[in-house]
Amino acid sequence: MKIYTVKESGFCFGVKRALNIIYGLNEQKQDTQIYGQLIHNKTALDQLEAKGIETIQSLDRLDPRKKLVIRTHGIKKDEEERLKKEGIDYVDATCPLVKNLHHIIEKLQNKDTQILIIGDKNHPEVIAAQSYGDNVTVINSEAEAAAMKKADRLDVLAQTTLDSDHFERIVALLAAKAGKLEVHNTICNTTKVRQEAIKKLAPRVDFVVVLGGKNSSNTRKLYNIALNRNKNTFYIQKSSHLNDPAFIAGIKDFRSVAIAAGASTPPGEIEEAKNILRNINLSIEKETNNGKRKRNCKHNH
Ligand code: SF4
Repeated sequence: MKIYTVKESGFCFGVKRALNIIYGLNEQKQDTQIYGQLIHNKTALDQLEAKGIETIQSLDRLDPRKKLVIRTHGIKKDEEERLKKEGIDYVDATCPLVKNLHHIIEKLQNKDTQILIIGDKNHPEVIAAQSYGDNVTVINSEAEAAAMKKADRLDVLAQTTLDSDHFERIVALLAAKAGKLEVHNTICNTTKVRQEAIKKLAPRVDFVVVLGGKNSSNTRKLYNIALNRNKNTFYIQKSSHLNDPAFIAGIKDFRSVAIAAGASTPPGEIEEAKNILRNINLSIEKETNNGKRKRNCKHNH
């Protein structure tokens, strides 16, 4: 079986940076808490928990004896202000590319414009970014874009992990809604490269394995992109799930696979997935050869 790995699969720059911060503090024996899920991957979070690094979901659970680390997706402006006001000892591990959205929105505050983010309004990154402006609207569909009222000026930003095609389709509709349309394409480069790679690879292989947490927004987008181009696309949360007999039976006639992984999938998971697929392939080949030998035997006697 030919196994291809999609470019830029696994930990992105923002996630690596955040983990370096956390593990650096851990090595210095610094007691640490993370505010919000640092990354959307259970394996990576279990590894942090095993080191005694706790994740809190509300600032009310703050332990002032510990250093606080802010997740890659960022937090709301008023929450950061609260940390500063209360003199909380914290490190900001928000990805600089996510922070860029906050800066753009803050700069637009004094301009006479309507600010729009295209993305998932329930995602922590979008919730945080929205709080950096007084009147920021979030939409995520062509229908919502079509229903928008006309504005003199619109400034449009994207959730960093948005599908570029989806963004462009919505932006095209918004052009008719604004006297002046300013587009800030804030989709991060790693996301773009990974999505372009899966778009090219998915139709050329027999099946696709998308590896990553079910609550990881960028992994889900990869899955949808691949599924639109190859119906044999599997969303696998943990590489060990590839050992499932039903999955193995389903791929026994396939000869090529593309593995794609979200930005929060640890590199060890991708390696393990490749090894499991190689081993599945070896046992399928063995069984096929045994079958052939038996059939040949019958003919010869
Ligand atoms: S996916 Fe992009 S924007 Fe998001 S954390 Fe990674 S590098 Fe930053």
